[in-house]
Amino acid sequence: MVKKKRHKLTVELGCAALIASLLSGCSAANQGQSSREKTSVSGVMEYDRNNVVMGTLTKAVIYSSGKDRTKEVMERLSQVENDAISWRVEGSDIDKLNKSAGHPSGVEVSEDTASYLKKTLELAKNTDGAFDPTMGKISRLWDVDGDHPQVPEKEELKQLLDESGYEKIQQDGTHVVLESGASVDFGAVGKGIGCDEAKKLLENDSDVCGAVISVGGSILTYGTKPDESDWKVAITNPDNDTDYVGILTLSGENYVSTSGSYEKFFEQDGNTYHHIMDPATGYPAESGLVSVSVLTDNGLLSDGLSTACFVLGKEKSLPVLEKYEADAIFIDENHKVYVTDGIKNKFELVRKGYELAEE
Ligand code: ADP
Ligand code: MG
Repeated sequence: MVKKKRHKLTVELGCAALIASLLSGCSAANQGQSSREKTSVSGVMEYDRNNVVMGTLTKAVIYSSGKDRTKEVMERLSQVENDAISWRVEGSDIDKLNKSAGHPSGVEVSEDTASYLKKTLELAKNTDGAFDPTMGKISRLWDVDGDHPQVPEKEELKQLLDESGYEKIQQDGTHVVLESGASVDFGAVGKGIGCDEAKKLLENDSDVCGAVISVGGSILTYGTKPDESDWKVAITNPDNDTDYVGILTLSGENYVSTSGSYEKFFEQDGNTYHHIMDPATGYPAESGLVSVSVLTDNGLLSDGLSTACFVLGKEKSLPVLEKYEADAIFIDENHKVYVTDGIKNKFELVRKGYELAEE
């Protein structure tokens, strides 16, 4: 059996030192923790920190005339993971919610968790359930990124499918009730939530003029660099994730997340199975796409939309993207790259073997 899981990091191309290590295929284990600072233009410092947070490689680069805030960003991400959104962490809001399944009185969650859940449930409704925050048990049954990935037994899968579905979550403010058998998993929005929380920290410090925060495949660009050059976000090459297909040139605040079938997968009996599930079937989504990157003005939504669009396929994604005023880059299995109108002039295809598609 062939199995693959990489610690993915969407890259801002200004971070040359990191790119060098990423392009040589670094893993979280050999990357470890590191931090660095250097004087940038006109007394503004460039603070840089790498860490493994939210189960993925995370990088913070902050340009500031004041204190180094990179450690606080990492600590905030860990706090959000542990207190709020991780189903793995005993005592987190989501753990408490999942343990309450079937209890009609439900549980109270924090204001933050309630606001994440509200956006998540709206996204589920607006995508007709292509994005579904109750897919966790089905993902674990497949165990794509675990020690025993396998195609599940049909009966077992059917039972979990019957028990899942976003409509089994009832939310009234901070009060949430979950039907018996259902569970909530923020895996597809967690890294984007991390970007949103990082942004809240950065905007509280007026010394910060610019920053790039990458949490795995979700990236936040914020403010401007001291030299006022644009942010350059690399879109990973699905055929070789140490390389990139093209570059998005952006200014100011942006959130870009990528979901791709090349990130985590295994092979069984000659077939390949990846980690993005189609909630309609309980099987890995087959939409002809290998990667979707979504650009919006919110981290949770860019992350969730990238998963949703991967499941929906390009055609069905377009009205959803319009509704959220989001843009996307779709890469299909024939190496065609489709870019929505809003970012056509911001995207440059650089890799041979890929072709820009008009429709
Ligand atoms: P990654 O974790 O590589 O960034 P995604 O953001 O696409 O990938 O999210 C994958 C996670 O989302 C998995 O943890 C899985 O439990 C969950 N998931 C899989 N399919 C769906 C889906 N259709 N809707 C919501 N969550 C999903
Ligand atoms: Mg996602």
